[in-house]
Amino acid sequence: MTEELDHGRTGVTHGSRIDAYVDRYAARATGMVASEIRALFAVASRPEVVSLGSGMPYITALPLDVVGELVADLVARQGTVALQYGGGLGDEALREQICTVMSIEGIESVPDDIMVTVGSQQALDLITRIFIDPGDIVLSEGPSYAGALGTFAAYQAKVVHIAMDDQGIIPEALAQTIYALRAAGSRMKFLYTIPTFQNPSGVTLNEVRRLQVLEICQRAGLLVVEDNPYGLLGFEREPLRAMRASNPEGVVYLGSFSKTLAPGFRVGWALAPRPILDKLVLAMESAVLSHSAFTQLAVREYLRTQPWREQIKAFRELYRERRDAMLGALDVQMPDGCAWTKPGGGFFVWMTLPEGLNSKAMLPQAIDKRVAYVPGTGFYADGGGTRHMRLSYCYPQPDRIREGVRRLAGVIEEELRTRDTFGTGMVPGHGGVDTPGPDLA
Ligand code: PMP
Repeated sequence: MTEELDHGRTGVTHGSRIDAYVDRYAARATGMVASEIRALFAVASRPEVVSLGSGMPYITALPLDVVGELVADLVARQGTVALQYGGGLGDEALREQICTVMSIEGIESVPDDIMVTVGSQQALDLITRIFIDPGDIVLSEGPSYAGALGTFAAYQAKVVHIAMDDQGIIPEALAQTIYALRAAGSRMKFLYTIPTFQNPSGVTLNEVRRLQVLEICQRAGLLVVEDNPYGLLGFEREPLRAMRASNPEGVVYLGSFSKTLAPGFRVGWALAPRPILDKLVLAMESAVLSHSAFTQLAVREYLRTQPWREQIKAFRELYRERRDAMLGALDVQMPDGCAWTKPGGGFFVWMTLPEGLNSKAMLPQAIDKRVAYVPGTGFYADGGGTRHMRLSYCYPQPDRIREGVRRLAGVIEEELRTRDTFGTGMVPGHGGVDTPGPDLA
């Protein structure tokens, strides 16, 4: 390997020929930066570290032998279709099954309203691509899903966060923000929301507010993008009615099999009003030409032949046990001044640290003590979240979760002692002004 090429890989490019190329990136490339979660993966995957950071589903709970047979059978019997280009909206029988899945949340739809996507992440990308010009505004909860914020940044959208509490978006805050942005002549394109078991907060938008939020957006002529990968993973009650069920014209609904089956298939979907769907198909073709027929058919065969409702129930029970392990351990271990959400489903708990602590600055100490989490700043587009962290309970076993929380409590106590010793209200060396996020506890 030549020195220049090696430099290109390691990023030590100063003065090399690569400089001339990277100087020519499009302006949108500057918004493409590694997420906090990505940066964390390398350390958090060391076996001695308890990772309360990653949002990976617990795939071990799937009957992998059955899935393996199903895939082998698919190639043997339907290989000429499964290994060919797919096209258009995606496999029709799969889209029919998706209608059935969504009917659990009160959605009435037909296959022609749905486009299959490469995970719901691609649907997010395509929606952003067709709606956003540089500088356009996307409203989203604060905090919000880091992957969506990354997509919005890549298309040079400006994200304005709407305050939320433990019942989700605060409708009055939404109305006021829309009013103020309107008055300032801003171009708002859509509200992006994860109303059920939100990533990263675990919070669910209550039923009354769902209708209020829809009404506010409708009056403002603002499209709602409802991202709902966790909706079927509730621990305490039947699935909530999706926002899309109450307003088919005003909502683009994004769904995914990543959490109810497996993310490795990369099968998600968008349910959208026809004109938007037509545009999404064109955007999809320019992005990936056609989706994988193979993984679509694999998911279709899984849904056709396997007891998928029971599998989702098994996932729910598994994640509920882990949620209970985390909440129980937090109750026992965490020092005064910490607060956290109590998710009714999904993967995440959102923690608020005592005043003066900074979750990002504290991370190296935590890794030292062999526990990892995602600092709250990764879930804000505006530098907020310094006093917050996302803790996930989806992947580690309950005992590991308890051990992770014990280690984390030790790190926080140590930070508090340091803060008290210096008596400044800020941890020395951590710098910066703390921007408290919404109180979600
Ligand atoms: N939306 C949310 C809220 C998520 O948490 C995730 C994945 N963590 C996605 C979308 C993307 O999921 P996928 O592309 O695997 O469907």
